[in-house]
Amino acid sequence: MVTTTERDGMTWYECETCGMLFDDRDDASQHEEHCDDDSADPSYLQ
Ligand SMILES: [Zn+2]
Repeated sequence: MVTTTERDGMTWYECETCGMLFDDRDDASQHEEHCDDDSADPSYLQ
């Protein structure tokens, strides 16, 4: 899920999976669809 964060007076869109920041919501959602960094999701490994 993409989350929004305020930084330096700008809104950024953050990939919850890997924490990468984007200045465009579409870029963030598109990235997240293909983001396979499962190290940030420990429940996956249990
Ligand atoms: Zn990501």
